[in-house]
Amino acid sequence: MQVIGGKDKEGEERNNLRDSVQKETLRQLYQKSAEEKAMSMATENNLPYVDLHVIPTNPETVNAIPEEKAIKANMAIIYRVGKKWQIAVSDPEDIETKKMLEYLKTTEGITYNLVVVSEDGLKKAWEQYRFKTVTDNFENEGVSLKSGDLTDFEKGITGLIDLKKRIAEINTTEIFNIILAGAVKTRASDIHIEPDKETIRLRYRIDGVLQDIVKFPKSVHKTIISRIKMLAKMKLNITDIPQDGSFNVSLENNALNVRVSILPTTYGESVVMRVLSENAEGLDIDQIGLNEYYLDMILKEVSKPNGMILTTGPTGSGKTTSLYSFVRKVNDPGIKIITLENPVEYRIEGVTQTPVEQNEEFTFANGLRAVVRQDPDVIMVGEIRDDETAAIAVQAALTGHLVLSTLHTNNAAGAIPRLLHLGVNPALIAPAINAVIAQRLVRRLCEHCKEEYVPSEETMSSLRKILAGIPKNDKMQFPDKFDKLYRSHGCSKCNFIGYTGRLGIYEIFSMSTNIEKIILANVSTGDMLAAARAEGMISMGEDGILKMIQGVTSVEEVHRVTGIMGDVA
Ligand SMILES: [Zn+2]
Repeated sequence: MQVIGGKDKEGEERNNLRDSVQKETLRQLYQKSAEEKAMSMATENNLPYVDLHVIPTNPETVNAIPEEKAIKANMAIIYRVGKKWQIAVSDPEDIETKKMLEYLKTTEGITYNLVVVSEDGLKKAWEQYRFKTVTDNFENEGVSLKSGDLTDFEKGITGLIDLKKRIAEINTTEIFNIILAGAVKTRASDIHIEPDKETIRLRYRIDGVLQDIVKFPKSVHKTIISRIKMLAKMKLNITDIPQDGSFNVSLENNALNVRVSILPTTYGESVVMRVLSENAEGLDIDQIGLNEYYLDMILKEVSKPNGMILTTGPTGSGKTTSLYSFVRKVNDPGIKIITLENPVEYRIEGVTQTPVEQNEEFTFANGLRAVVRQDPDVIMVGEIRDDETAAIAVQAALTGHLVLSTLHTNNAAGAIPRLLHLGVNPALIAPAINAVIAQRLVRRLCEHCKEEYVPSEETMSSLRKILAGIPKNDKMQFPDKFDKLYRSHGCSKCNFIGYTGRLGIYEIFSMSTNIEKIILANVSTGDMLAAARAEGMISMGEDGILKMIQGVTSVEEVHRVTGIMGDVA
């Protein structure tokens, strides 16, 4: 409602309101009498009555017969399974209706049951023809998503707030394009479409964190799901088992590969789409967040002609991004680099990249065996998770290859027991390994809206204690005193999230005589950690705290990804 100034305006407003209330009451009365008429028509013909203002219809069903025919025959198809239809008519005795029913039965072999609806109800069902072109176009065009559509939508979206507004006012046929364009615009890595009892929730994962975008009415669920299924070449009529698929979208100056996973849930099919951008560039070794000490260490290790560099951490901790940055660093026309990946996340010129599907014929293990025969200098293996892969990777590292890979452990020290568990001979570990990295990703505070604040005295004293315990080195500056931290409240530049982009926090140790002794003595992860610590290893949490004090990230982020700082925030 507008803000009205002056008494005359208020009076006018009241009159308008009264008028519209009267109109609405009349309309409802009219509709009621129309529905009552339909109800008695149903009784006379001994047929059920349905109120199409209450019972929903959908475009796929209504589209079973063309619009002109439906209007001429005064009918609408409101439910169908194969050739069994439920047909809504406004007058079962109407001559055109009867003709059409006869045609459907004898020529098309349709068996049907009839329900009686009001004329107004029929019109309501026919509104679904407005959405006809969506599904028709998919089928005819071999379900390509026109890049023009997406680019146009993308151009029209300036940020999340705008996206939410656009989604609220857009018609059903365009919703899917808007969802995808919005994801591209906000750099979302995943799109989640989750049906609830009455609504569908749309969420994007942006910089690793799920953000609520909007809630749709349940009525658009089927349209969105159908569109996704057609694009990803999935079975449209199957709704009770999980399905996987993918599709590609070419954009003006980019291409997307979208991996789709559909899962049946109590309230309908739930969708997760992972968006991989073809020209995602990856980061250079000095952009991933390594502090000066670690950067210096890693630069030394990647320049060695052999050995293994392992990164560890849970899924989504940026392991692969780090490995890619190492590959980019060593990439040179004089050396041959082969990767085995699942999937290929970034393309790097001059590097032979091989996608591994992880099926029986093509595993990391037999892929790696083939790669070694291709005479590479550097090998990147997406993941070491079985004995065979571990054994071949260690052999390769010992025989003149630089091997880059990831392990699924929580911290750097844990990599050694993990390799032992995978059956690697303890005597080979120290000679094979150059360095072990553990990492997490924290979001970067938005440069446009970040602000200083003075934390509580308790926070300050805990931080000072932690800082005092960090092993020092001469490669980097340690703050001897500090009096403020940083936070942000969000602005239009960061979609009101407060963060843009991410960087890693790390703990790294390289192989040393002391650490080798510990490995051969077969002692615990705790002893491993103590040895690495004695060599100067800064923990992930400590690295996070240093980045917090520098104003790169916030207390909340470091706490979110490491669990430390819980009592000081
Ligand atoms: Zn901001």
